[in-house]
Order: sequence, then structure tokens, then C-alpha cells
Amino acid sequence: MSQSEDNLASTASLTNHDRKPIHLPGSIQPHGVLLALNSQLHIVQVSSNTQEILGKSISELLGKPLNSLLDTQQVEAIAQCWTKKAGIYTNYKVFINTFNREQYFDCIAHRTEDTLILELEPSESQSELSFLSFHALVSEAIADIQKTSNLSDFLHLVASQVREITAFDRVVIYQFDHEGAGSVVAEAKREDLPPYLGLHYPATDIPVQARNLYKRGILRFAPNLTATAVKLVPLDNPITQQPLDLSLSVLRSVDSCCIEYYQNMGITGILVIALIQDQKLWGLISCHHHTPQHLSHEMRQICAFLGRIVSSELTHKVNELELDYQVKLKSLQSEFIESISQADNFIDALIKPEIRLLDVVSASGAAVCLDNEITLVGTTPAIEQVRAVIEWADDQIKDNLFATNSLPQLYPESVAFKDTASGLLLLRISQVRRYYILWFRPEVIQTVNWAGNPNQAVQVTEVDGTVSLSPRKSFAKWQQTVRLTSLPWKECELDSAIALRNAIVGIVLSKADELAKINRDLERSNRQLASFAYAASHDLKEPLRGIYNYSTILLEDYAQILDADALECLETVVSLSVRMETLINALLRLAQLGQAQLRKQPTDFNDLVNELIDVFRASRPDAHLFNIRIPQPLPTVQCDSVLVNEVFSNLITNAFKYNDKAEQWVEIGYLNSHPQQRKQQSSVTPIFYVRDNGIGIPEHHRETIFRLFKRLHSQEKYGGGVGAGLAIVKKIVELHNGQIWVESTLGIGSTFYFTLE
Ligand code: ADP
Repeated sequence: MSQSEDNLASTASLTNHDRKPIHLPGSIQPHGVLLALNSQLHIVQVSSNTQEILGKSISELLGKPLNSLLDTQQVEAIAQCWTKKAGIYTNYKVFINTFNREQYFDCIAHRTEDTLILELEPSESQSELSFLSFHALVSEAIADIQKTSNLSDFLHLVASQVREITAFDRVVIYQFDHEGAGSVVAEAKREDLPPYLGLHYPATDIPVQARNLYKRGILRFAPNLTATAVKLVPLDNPITQQPLDLSLSVLRSVDSCCIEYYQNMGITGILVIALIQDQKLWGLISCHHHTPQHLSHEMRQICAFLGRIVSSELTHKVNELELDYQVKLKSLQSEFIESISQADNFIDALIKPEIRLLDVVSASGAAVCLDNEITLVGTTPAIEQVRAVIEWADDQIKDNLFATNSLPQLYPESVAFKDTASGLLLLRISQVRRYYILWFRPEVIQTVNWAGNPNQAVQVTEVDGTVSLSPRKSFAKWQQTVRLTSLPWKECELDSAIALRNAIVGIVLSKADELAKINRDLERSNRQLASFAYAASHDLKEPLRGIYNYSTILLEDYAQILDADALECLETVVSLSVRMETLINALLRLAQLGQAQLRKQPTDFNDLVNELIDVFRASRPDAHLFNIRIPQPLPTVQCDSVLVNEVFSNLITNAFKYNDKAEQWVEIGYLNSHPQQRKQQSSVTPIFYVRDNGIGIPEHHRETIFRLFKRLHSQEKYGGGVGAGLAIVKKIVELHNGQIWVESTLGIGSTFYFTLE
């Protein structure tokens, strides 16, 4: 709350004003004198009030060595300043013979790169404040301050203590937000004054340079803003030929704009102590007085000291608050991560119990999006709205994270669900798989009490084309309602989200490793099983052959000595062994396929299917009865043509076999996409089909027919069979990484679909 700036409407003048070199005013406040010295301690520049304060004219001092004013001992002490770093203050108590009497002065010395600046303020006391009196003044204040447990009590106590020490009419503690606007967070004041507590001030009230100066020299004192500033003589520093840098001068005159700003508030005397946290300007202790208010150098020193204590205590208090919350988040987080990493289905563990997912970033709603499936938790927008938010936010994500506390301002469509999601935190877990977690926070309607209209922080008056700035005059309370905004997301909450992401990625990766291992084991045991099945069925064939042969011999050579029952038994043995051989052959074929290496080559399906139809027709005397149609030319596909031939052959055979219509037909074709496929496969591969007008398949058998030895009919019906054809077809399709399924209507017909990748 120091100096007003610019009209927000005028960016050009705002920039100009921000550039105004307030550290080079060429003048100081009149309650002290300033001497600028060169490295030989000769006075090169003085303030033009030396006569009034020191009883010496400018010409008596300019160009003279410092010992023309101070005794040798004092000069030697001051000379030590040159051995210190630039910008470090040294304080002395000096006495000077003024107006024929000894007058004590507080002498504050610091140096720039090339000039030593001495600032002298008349002092009542002869000696510097003793350690004991200093201790007495501050120790009680510090003890009380340290006892407070929460930040607000702490700041209020600080304001009261500072007011007690300084006796200013009002002491406020002013805190900056991250955009530079500030608010009064604690206050101690004369009872009759109106409260400023809770008022906000626009960022434009304190220009950038003033902030920077506060960061460097933590105390600013102006006992009387109505007093006329005194110029330096000569105006420019003769050593540098530039205006003297008064950044760290305690007497630096106050910028006219700043004076006007305070005067508009009815303030005459000010003391401002900067509060620094982690090298950033956290806020200010700002003391106001309605009449001139002098404060001795010692008292200011005490205030500066308190400012430092408050700054360090502040770091501690703010951090403590933050830390407590961070510890809570961390423990929630690790408990959460542990439980999802141990769960069989980590996605379930992510959303159950619901509260855990919300608490990990203190949200009121969340959505977990895995591919296209969205699960909502807590208070959230509707699924379609969440889907649209993801689409929109996807481009905004940086480092897998996007967070805003005012979604409606960035994404106007979200006004419709501001009550649930004015705040959004979106975490991308995988881009490829489209895995996201979204957290939502509701709108929090706040009333901000500004000290005057923040949009008129500075009025600009134009005279003859020149822009001049004047600070706003009204400090009347001006209310603004902040809508479409949620509580902001804290840094530690964003960290918590990222930690969760890392854990999930880790879990997914280790699950993928596990899966790969299981797959490898499975493949190995599949191979072993296939070779066992092959060996077993191969070996079974030999004794079977023996049974068949001996039964046939018995039938042929001993028919006359066997009775009718025995002959019938033998005939059954022969037919059973024939059937068993068929079964074993089917098993053998399947086992062979289990070990098969695909020999893929580009295969023109038109040729493949046509040859097959020719063979089919040649082998069937009733072939003229069958109508086989191919509505459009078939594509060329990379596949094992021998095996695919077997697929079509089985399907076509079945199509006519399980058909009781007078006019039987089969259609062979392909589609480019199918709803069922779209669900399961991302890229489009042709879907082949074999359609018939046969007997159809009951719904509950549409999966089981692909099992080995599964038949839906008795032996004798539909020309018999062992129920292995479709199992072999499925195996071949799967060897090509494809899928097979059937759609059917009883009595109307069936369509077998399959894909090959
Ligand atoms: P099989 O024809 O030797 O019995 P498959 O494995 O080829 O063995 O078929 C399994 C069962 O699926 C058949 O017994 C039949 O009941 C049914 N099926 C196969 N194709 C069709 C079809 N096109 N129409 C109706 N039913 C069929």
C-alpha cells in the first residue's frame, strides 16, 4: 500500500510508470542531510539543507575532506565502510559542532560501487541504544509472538506489537498474492479509525520498482510526507556523472505519486517494513499516521529487527501449515499406492473406496477414463461432459498435467457444470491408451472487498499530449464478486497427482512384465501340450490299426464259426475303430496346428476360393444343386494360403451340410468393418464371411460349436461328423491373430465371420 500506479486501460503509461526511476530522485527528505564521498573521503555531493541541519553552508562542505566536519576518530571509523561490501549499512553515533554546540547525529553509512553515502539525522540521545535496553524492548514482543500457534493470531500480535513500539495510528499487515495484489490480513489501529482488515489492493498500487526496493532495503520511513524534499548539489554525482543511486538511502525522497496516494488516504507519516519469505516479498508491515510522526533511528532499528524475526517466524509458520497438509497428503498417497499395487485389479482399487481418490488431492469429484470407459466418483459433471473436457484439455496438458481453478474462463462450455467443476486437475497416465484421471472442485463464490475500484487504480490525465499519472482518490470499499472459480490447486496437490501417476505407470509396467512372463510360460506349455497330443495320437493310431485289422480278419476268415451276436459285436468294433481313427486324426491335425509355423504370402482370395469351389463341385455328384455366390471380388491377403483354404473348405462344407432347404445357397464375401470388430480392434482389416440359408444355430451354442468334438446333433443326422471342423477353423484364424464368430437365425441361416491380421 504505498504508491499508486497506472490506469489499467493504458498499458503504455503503465510501462512508463514502471520504468520511472524512483531510486534516482536527486533529492532527500528534509529531516536529515546526505553527504556523498569519494574513495579519498572528500565530499562530492551534499543535500541542500546542510545549513539548516549542520549549520554549515554547501560551499563549506563541497570538495572538502570529511575531517572538516568530523573528528579523526569518527572519520577513521567511517573509512572502514570502503572495506565492506556495497549495500551493507553501518551505523554510528557521531557528534558535530553545529551552531556552536555539540549535536549528536545518527550516521547511517553505506556504499555503492564508487560512492560512500553518509546520511545524518539529528538524534536526542548521545549513545547508541545499549544491548540491554534493546533486549528489554524486543524480547517480550518476540516471546509473545513466538507463543502464537496459528498464522492469523501471529500476524495480529505482530501488528499490535509494532503499533505499541511505534505509536502510529494504524499498523496493518499486508500480504501479496501470486498475482501481486494484496490484502490486509492483520491490523492494529486507533479505535476511532475505520477498519482496513480484509480489504484488497490491486497489484498496480505498488509498482515493480518499489517492490524491488522493498526486497533490498527492508525498511522505508517517511515521517512527514508534506515536507518539501531537498535537492542534492550538484544534482549528478561528479564521480559517475549520473544521478546518485539512492536505492538504499534511508532519507530518499518519496515519489510524488506515492505522496499523493497516501495523502488521498489522509496519511502524513509512514513506516513500511518488508516481510520476506524464501527471498520473496511475502508482504509488508505498513504503519500509517495522520500527522507527522518522527521515529528515532533506534526505534526504526528495532522495527527492522522485528521485521526480520517476523520474516523468519513467518517462513516457519507458513511452512508448518503447509507441511502438516503435505504430510497428510503423503500418507494418504502412500496408503493409496500400496493398496492399488497389491490389488488384483488396480483399476477397481483406484476407485474403491471412492473417498481415497478424492482425498489424495482434496477434490470433491473425480473421473477415471480408461480408453473410452469413464467411471465417475463423487460430485462430477455428466459422462459426456467429462468426455468433452478431456477432448478439449488434451492439447493443454504439459508434463502429463493440466490444472486450472477457473475452467469456465478457459473453456466456456463448462459454465453449464460450474457447480461441480469450476476447478479441474487432469492427469494423463497414458496417451496411447487414453488413460486419464480428472479431479473436480466446485465453484466457490467469493466477495472481495477492494479498497476502491481496482480497475481505476491510477487515473491518467492527458495535458498537451503528455500523460501524467495520478493515484486514485477513492478508497471507499468496492465489492467484487468472484464467480466461476474454485479453490486453487496447491503445488503439493499437483505433486500428489504426479506421484500417483508415476505409481500407476510403475504398476502397469510391472503388470505388463508379469503378463509377458505368463504369456511366455503359456506358450511353452502350449507347445509341450501340442507335441504331447501329437505324439499320443500318433502312437494311438498303431494299436488302433491292429484292432481294426484283427477285427476285419475275424470277420472275413472266421465268419462261419462265429454266431450272429459275435459277428455283430465284431462289426461294432470295426466301426468304432473307424470312428476312433477319425477322432484321432482330428486331434492330430489340431496338435499339428499347435506347432505350426505360418507360411504367410500374399494370397488372392478370388483364386483360392474359386479353386476350392472347383474341387468341391468335382467331389460332389449333387454339386449342381448348390448355388455358391461371391457378390464382389475378394481382396488379396497376406496369410498362410494352405491353412486358410482349410478354413473356407470347412465353412463351405458345413454351410451345405447343415442345410435342409430345397434351394441351398452359400455366399462368400467380405466387409470393411463390423460393429463387433470395431469394439475389439483399432485398425480396419477385412472381415470375411460365409453365409448360408441353412438350419441356423441356437443362440446358446454360438460359442460352444467352436469347441473340439462339439456336435449339436446325433451321429446319424446331417451326414455325421466328429465336431472338429470348427475347432480347427478357429485355431487357424487365431494363428493369424484373427477372430471368428457367428451370427445366426434358426431356420433362416447362419453367417460365419472371421478376420486375419
Ligand atoms: P462337425 O461338422 O464335424 O459336426 P464342426 O466343428 O464343423 O463339426 O461343427 C460343429 C457343430 O456346429 C456341428 O455339429 C453343427 O451342429 C454346427 N454347425 C456348424 N456349421 C453350421 C452351419 N453352417 N449351420 C448350422 N449349424 C452348423
